[in-house]
Amino acid sequence: MSAALGVLGGGQLGRMMAQAAARLDTRFRFWDPSEDACAAPFGEHLRAPYDDPDAARRFCEGLDAATYEFENIPADTARAIAERVPLRPSARSIELTQDRLTEKNFLRDAGATPAPFAPVASAVELDAALASLGRPAVLKTRRFGYDGKGQAVIRRDADLPAARQLATSAPCVLESFIDFTRELSVVAVRTTTGDVATYPVTENIHAGGILRASIAPAAGRPRPDADGATDIAVRIAEALDHVGALCVELFDTPAGLLVNEIAPRVHNSGHWTIDATPCSQFENHVRAVLGMELGDASATAPAVMLNLIGDLPGQDDVAAIDPDARLHLYGKAPRPGRKVGHITLVGDRLAERAQRLADLPGVHAPSVSSAAERLRLN
Ligand code: AMP
Repeated sequence: MSAALGVLGGGQLGRMMAQAAARLDTRFRFWDPSEDACAAPFGEHLRAPYDDPDAARRFCEGLDAATYEFENIPADTARAIAERVPLRPSARSIELTQDRLTEKNFLRDAGATPAPFAPVASAVELDAALASLGRPAVLKTRRFGYDGKGQAVIRRDADLPAARQLATSAPCVLESFIDFTRELSVVAVRTTTGDVATYPVTENIHAGGILRASIAPAAGRPRPDADGATDIAVRIAEALDHVGALCVELFDTPAGLLVNEIAPRVHNSGHWTIDATPCSQFENHVRAVLGMELGDASATAPAVMLNLIGDLPGQDDVAAIDPDARLHLYGKAPRPGRKVGHITLVGDRLAERAQRLADLPGVHAPSVSSAAERLRLN
């Protein structure tokens, strides 16, 4: 029987949910205030501000469940939806993850270890927090930060004025700067009955706070503490009583795994699952939130994913370099810093093949070189 799913947000994550769910006979409604929401061609588009109570009523009409592709949803809107239809993941998953301080306290209570941190609500508190955590450290706004936005790294005195300004402008949290050996992530998907599927541990390469490349399974021997990372993700999903996809981002350090942050949704570091697992993070998320059983989340082959940011290569140019490259376009106009697509390579000779794509528009060449170096360890 056909099901109807509402998604808050109509960006590429919603678009890929709808594409993945095509075989599930599911209808989509996207709530997104922007005229050119790139998921809109894949369902009904409700165009309204996220804090419009009447839009919440219209959004819920006829839905079997509602979900979201970003976590900065106004709390009143989440509540208004949850009163009418099952909101999955729940309003609690949103509340705990949209504030970095609440999230870190929750992680600690759940038995996961975040980087050492201290709340900062003023320039005076910043000085006290720096005195206790030491330098280098990263100051982050508690709310509305993403892709490295709302962050200030403090290494030397010259970094202090910008950090003080940030501390005065919004409630923040100061974290120790972690000298990690690699960044990892795990996507777990949990059902309404508590079944959990986890995707292989992925290694991520960031530049300027933005994800540029992902390698799955994570590179290196001995294998990273893959079971440890997976266990942490499952423990967090259970502590949240989460339903749907959850991404846990971790720093791998010689002293063990630290959790950087969690996202209560499908995640950029899981895009490779579209091309290299029987059931992608998007399909499993839709399955979970609609109360269906999960599909197979194991990798069919190693994969590398390269983000296309700010610019796009021509389809023919990609095919000319690597006819087996899977190019995913989000239907978004390129703008500086905007994620407009990704390329997945699956199978063998990944380092060499990734390197050949490094100079394409939108690809971040230094990150590809790092990814290729990591891939050679596999
Ligand atoms: P976030 O938005 O918190 O995920 O930060 C984006 C990226 O900045 C991370 O993926 C890391 O590459 C880097 N970063 C954030 N926090 C730290 C930290 N405490 N220590 C070292 N690098 C960090």
